[in-house]
Amino acid sequence: MPRVQFLGTGNAFSPNGRLHALVLIDGKILVDAPPSVLPQLRRVGTSPGQIEHLLFTHWHADHMFGFPFLILERHYISKQDTPLAVHLRAGGRELLSQLSEVGFPGSLGDVLEDEIVWNEAESGTIGESGWSFERFPVVHTPETDPHGYFLRHESGFKLLHCGDSGPCEGIESWADQADVILVEMGVPDFVESPNHHNPRQVQELAERHPEAKVLVTHNYADGEGRSGGFPMPDMAGNVVQLEDGDELSIEENGEFIFVKN
Ligand SMILES: [Zn+2]
Ligand SMILES: [Zn+2]
Repeated sequence: MPRVQFLGTGNAFSPNGRLHALVLIDGKILVDAPPSVLPQLRRVGTSPGQIEHLLFTHWHADHMFGFPFLILERHYISKQDTPLAVHLRAGGRELLSQLSEVGFPGSLGDVLEDEIVWNEAESGTIGESGWSFERFPVVHTPETDPHGYFLRHESGFKLLHCGDSGPCEGIESWADQADVILVEMGVPDFVESPNHHNPRQVQELAERHPEAKVLVTHNYADGEGRSGGFPMPDMAGNVVQLEDGDELSIEENGEFIFVKN
């Protein structure tokens, strides 16, 4: 049964109880590769070698610095035969190659060449997984070439992954079609940043799209039952603030069940 796991739900600062935002689909498709990608996969018993596809949203460290660790592990430990398909924007390959060379000098050149299939298409199927994607621009630090993904499963289920973004046209243009909207909430209400959603803006997004379930990730606040940083804001209606380990279970008819960790 198709499954979307929210392994990590924190922003760049990894608030108490949250690892960096990370989505795992059907045990083999990752959206982004945060620095904590290996421990996040191991925590749910998934081998890095099982990952077949990796989709990147943008070039901030909390979304990409795990890449050298991921390909190093696959080469030396999992010894995967199947290449990893990396779906990314033009220019990303060079950036990831530089990052890998800085991280593990001289060790990953052949891996980058022989064990990865680079896909710069803006839309398409995700291998034989039954999922397809359309990438669209969002509003975030422009230097990071920020994008979101509209993900469609053959069952009919549709997930809008908003990437790391403030409120924007791109998100609005897809949100009406989505069953689930996954939105980052990187800053509290007292921060007005065009590049991130705050709780008030997430609530407004949810009110504009009452037919969708709005799941909050990349949260700036501590996880449930944790303290020391920002407390979780109150949110209402069709909004759920995810915790690490929550997931969606998708049925054959495209309906979904939300499963708490
Ligand atoms: Zn981020
Ligand atoms: Zn970012």
